[in-house]
Amino acid sequence: MTHRLYYTDAYLRSFDATIVERAEDGRRLYLDRTAFYPTSGGQPNDVGTLGGVAVVDVVDEDERIAHVLAAPYAGPDGVHGEIDWARRFDFAQQHTGQHLLSGTFEELFDWPTVSVHFGDVVSTLEIDAPAASAKQLRRVEERANALIAENRPVVVTFEDAAAVAPRLRRPSARTGTLRIVTIEGHDTSACGGTHLRRTGEIGALLLRRVEKIRDHVRIEFTCGARAIRRARADYEALSDIAERMSASIDDVPMLVRSRIEEGKSLAAANRRFIEELSAHRARAQWESTPAGGDGVRRLRAADGMTADELRAWAAACALLPMTVAAGAVRETRTIALAVSADLDANAGALLKEALQQVGGRGGGSPRTAQGSVAEDAQLEPVLNAVLGGTHRVRAS
Ligand SMILES: [Zn+2]
Repeated sequence: MTHRLYYTDAYLRSFDATIVERAEDGRRLYLDRTAFYPTSGGQPNDVGTLGGVAVVDVVDEDERIAHVLAAPYAGPDGVHGEIDWARRFDFAQQHTGQHLLSGTFEELFDWPTVSVHFGDVVSTLEIDAPAASAKQLRRVEERANALIAENRPVVVTFEDAAAVAPRLRRPSARTGTLRIVTIEGHDTSACGGTHLRRTGEIGALLLRRVEKIRDHVRIEFTCGARAIRRARADYEALSDIAERMSASIDDVPMLVRSRIEEGKSLAAANRRFIEELSAHRARAQWESTPAGGDGVRRLRAADGMTADELRAWAAACALLPMTVAAGAVRETRTIALAVSADLDANAGALLKEALQQVGGRGGGSPRTAQGSVAEDAQLEPVLNAVLGGTHRVRAS
């Protein structure tokens, strides 16, 4: 059984211990005692060194704790361990912050915490609530930060499960002696993790993204230096946007909303212009193009149209009498075909057939059709195929 030093002293950064077993050629060590925290309760393991060798993983095997090393250790049984303190302290900030936050959700809204996760960048907590409004979350954040400012003691005790049960925020399934973590006057939880001594050490608590997960709400939070780093990154991103808009950060949300609306109405106006322009172009072209022997005008789209322009031009051509019209956008190797309603021909079927000859794909309605080919050289043959041939006038 490994004696867990972090249970009673979460501030122990280095320790001496005796190896009781070596496995996997000295890459997996078991000690009589350890300050290394193993992955458990949603909190990732410590890293550091044992006998000068890097510890890359720490595994909780119930009775014992396994230390997984980056390289085999072949030294004496007496070893010195060093914890990566910056990482440990960072997770203790997130973890203690989570207790504080869970207690605050209960205190203000009776929302129980159902699960927690501590990540290297982001930590999350899931509460049993149908929804959480921005206003409610602001209240929770303010209360949590007020409790941080009060610098309340965080105390670890060992108590009998039955005796402590009425005081616990969340019932524990364990029996016997429980490790109890109490934020004075605020929260009492059974927990095996590493915590700070006082709430002041959390530094700051920032709530972030909120997501609805089934009938729960998942909330991202960051504490301590992470919260400051996150706030700095947010500020820099926002400053960049504000600078591009020659505005102050506070005006950015309103400005972005109005720019989006502007963009939508400009796009709608542009669509109308393209349609009108295309109708004029089609009509002018029709008037200056002599009809063939079969009375049909065959129109070829001018080069350099955009895909939107070509589509609009084809749609306009389809409305003209006794007309077959086709064109291509070279950059995208796309083709459009239009056939007027008084001709006994089907645009979709015509284009599909011509495209199949060169391995292209496409189709459409009897009046207009679109398709594409794989190579530039295939455009002309397809255009010639759909514009050539004779067409009968549809019997009315
Ligand atoms: Zn805890």
